[in-house]
Amino acid sequence: MSYVDEVLERVRTKNASEPEFLQAVDEVLNSLRPVIEANEEKFKKEALLERLCEPERQFKFRVPWVDDNGQVQVNTGYRVQFNSAIGPYKGGLRLHPSVNIGIIKFLGFEQIFKNSLTGLPIGGGKGGSDFDPKGKSDREVMAFCQSFMTELCKYIGADTDVPAGDIGTGAREIGYMFGQYKRIRGVYEGVLTGKGLSYGGSLARTEATGYGLLYFTDEMLKSNGKSLEGKICAVSGAGNVAIYAIQKAQQLGAKPVTCSDSTGWIYDSEGIDVDLLKEVKEVKRARLSEYAAKRPSAEYHEKKAGEHGVWTVKCDVALPCATQNELDLDDAKALVANGCFAVAEGANMPTTLEATKYLQENGILFAPGKASNAGGVATSALEMSQNSERLSWTFEEVDGKLKDIMVNIFRSADSAAKKYGCDGDYVAGANIAGFEKVVDAMLAQGVC
Ligand code: NDP
Repeated sequence: MSYVDEVLERVRTKNASEPEFLQAVDEVLNSLRPVIEANEEKFKKEALLERLCEPERQFKFRVPWVDDNGQVQVNTGYRVQFNSAIGPYKGGLRLHPSVNIGIIKFLGFEQIFKNSLTGLPIGGGKGGSDFDPKGKSDREVMAFCQSFMTELCKYIGADTDVPAGDIGTGAREIGYMFGQYKRIRGVYEGVLTGKGLSYGGSLARTEATGYGLLYFTDEMLKSNGKSLEGKICAVSGAGNVAIYAIQKAQQLGAKPVTCSDSTGWIYDSEGIDVDLLKEVKEVKRARLSEYAAKRPSAEYHEKKAGEHGVWTVKCDVALPCATQNELDLDDAKALVANGCFAVAEGANMPTTLEATKYLQENGILFAPGKASNAGGVATSALEMSQNSERLSWTFEEVDGKLKDIMVNIFRSADSAAKKYGCDGDYVAGANIAGFEKVVDAMLAQGVC
């Protein structure tokens, strides 16, 4: 049995109840086979893969808070500090009822390679809670965030672990958490990113993941003799990533015609109206049916089990920007049948393993999230730099650096794929390029 298979078997046995984590490890280790097989003896002696798949440490804690009726509620908080070989742990905090340790571990594991790919000195981590901010009052969200940070603040710091936003954690939640950290620890430092502009946030951080996704996609298309100009895009999600992906796609000449949320999806033949979408989702925090009510060219479809939503729409480019495993094999088949030629992931692991394989086998240009959505964490690292030097850069400065980083990520993934004989396979290329730097640092630092 090969070293990769041995480790995969051990990871499966040890983490049997964590399907998302197993899916992420499976994808990464399988795509790393050419590199690992070329160094099998050395890596095995160093137990390198076993160390890579075991978080350095993980915290699980009680988060009690009082709701508006005076009732005490209890949620579970998590922080997984996965790998600090190349820098302080960095990764978002997800607030969603589906959160459990397996989801946080999958996200933290992916984050190691993504952060390495940015070329910036940041390690991998992730955290969150099964708390659902939806439908809660601002006071309830504040009560939760303060209780969450009361415990989390013991484990994080500007030079050790710097969390950020993710699903359910936007500017409001980061603000409440930052206030509580400062109050308890008594230090004003860049311990969180995604902060408001008045207290250390970076211009262009809000836009970064969506914009970065489109910079990457643009570069991938150009390198394959294609362009975004005039192309129809199917986008899922209606949150931070989706909104700014739609905006940048329009700026680059494409026409996004769909978006979705957890209750339904929109097809807008005239192209999505970003200002209206922002008003509905960012300001009112309402459902997408409100978008359709104000826009005659839009159709609203209620989400139904077994239906394939935005992926049934005829498009050239698909941009999944909602959540994990939202694009399955049937969706992939529908996209190929409808003439789609590129899929670029804005969300983390939105495409199932079978769907990814099908898309790649059918010649679709496929951009894996850990490369194509790395613009968010890259700009978070730029926010850390600005906080350290106590300066704020202009929007253009940050956006220019973001664009350079995304183009470089594409080039690293592309050349790693070519080097190991899998030209055009950006999944393998991204994993290999991210892995090489982390492994180099781990080996240099001895057994730890
Ligand atoms: P948001 O919470 O801002 O938005 C998520 C969107 O997806 C919402 O519109 C939500 O609907 C929708 N959604 C969530 N779950 C489902 C579901 N099961 N079915 C359909 N729609 C769903 O999150 P972000 O935009 O920040 O994150 C989206 C993805 O991108 C996540 O995978 C995240 O990990 C990843 N990501 C985010 C980064 C960032 O900088 N924000 C950086 C890198 C990756 P509703 O409005 O109803 O809640």
